[in-house]
Amino acid sequence: MSAEKNIHSDNSFSVSSEAVEFSWSYSRYKIFRFCKRAYFYRYYAASNGWDKFADSRSRMLYRLKNLVKAENYVRNLVSKTLSDVFTRGSRKGAKDFPLRDIYSALQKHIFHNRADIENKCWEEDPKKLNLFEVYYGEDPDSVFGKIREHISDFVSKLSQCGLLSELASVPYLQWKNFTLPVVFSFNGLNVWTVPDFVWSHEGNTNLLFLKSRRNEEAWRILPGISVMALENNFHTPPSLCKCRTFFREGPEIFEGYESLEKVRSIIMESSSCMLSLLTRDGKADEENFNRTEGNCSSCEFKEYCEK
Ligand code: SF4
Repeated sequence: MSAEKNIHSDNSFSVSSEAVEFSWSYSRYKIFRFCKRAYFYRYYAASNGWDKFADSRSRMLYRLKNLVKAENYVRNLVSKTLSDVFTRGSRKGAKDFPLRDIYSALQKHIFHNRADIENKCWEEDPKKLNLFEVYYGEDPDSVFGKIREHISDFVSKLSQCGLLSELASVPYLQWKNFTLPVVFSFNGLNVWTVPDFVWSHEGNTNLLFLKSRRNEEAWRILPGISVMALENNFHTPPSLCKCRTFFREGPEIFEGYESLEKVRSIIMESSSCMLSLLTRDGKADEENFNRTEGNCSSCEFKEYCEK
């Protein structure tokens, strides 16, 4: 679906929100608080930039929106690789697990991803991986050196705290392999959530979240959103959901989640703030989304925004 777009003479532009469906996610909430202008670029202005026939500004913003920070790449890669090894294979709950296989799968992914980045495959296909740090001039050797270190540290801490053995011991049929993201309806909104691992055990539903950086808020709110999704889509009582969050820094495991009442009120209040910035006729106008100076060095859109 293409977003209707009007380019104004003052170089700002508005996007019809009817063409860009509003849905709520924790990452949307996070970027809205980070900088409203970045929020506008990500959720409205870049919306059809994947199309090579779109205007150059949308294509550039789409490219920037898809930049991935190295720490998120590490998290995503570890989560995906462990999921491939433990939940999608033909394993039947063996107590031991192939640590060597996990490392070699990770190395293979890193090798291919690095080749794609160095060949700038993202120029042809903007959905291909492009790392924020490399795009903004850091030496690829140093970036990938740190990535390897962090991945190895992440996996070894997961192993030390017993989580890898626990994942390996889950019988195949007890995994809940949802199509991700899990989308549920709340108060007329579509809400998205992406739990890393969900499985049943002794009548409970276990949820495990892997995160790159310790963040008090994220580990409480994110599991709460997934508990709401399970209750809404699968009638799983929240009292039977056991949530745990593990941060790359390890080795503690954080248990529990924010009260659902609080999570619901965050979703309602923040979505109302987000929607209040649209114009009366439902358009997202760049001028209504203020810049927040101070966060710019870590912002994907700085190349465009600082011009
Ligand atoms: S560069 Fe700064 S002002 Fe511009 S979108 Fe990013 S954080 Fe906001």
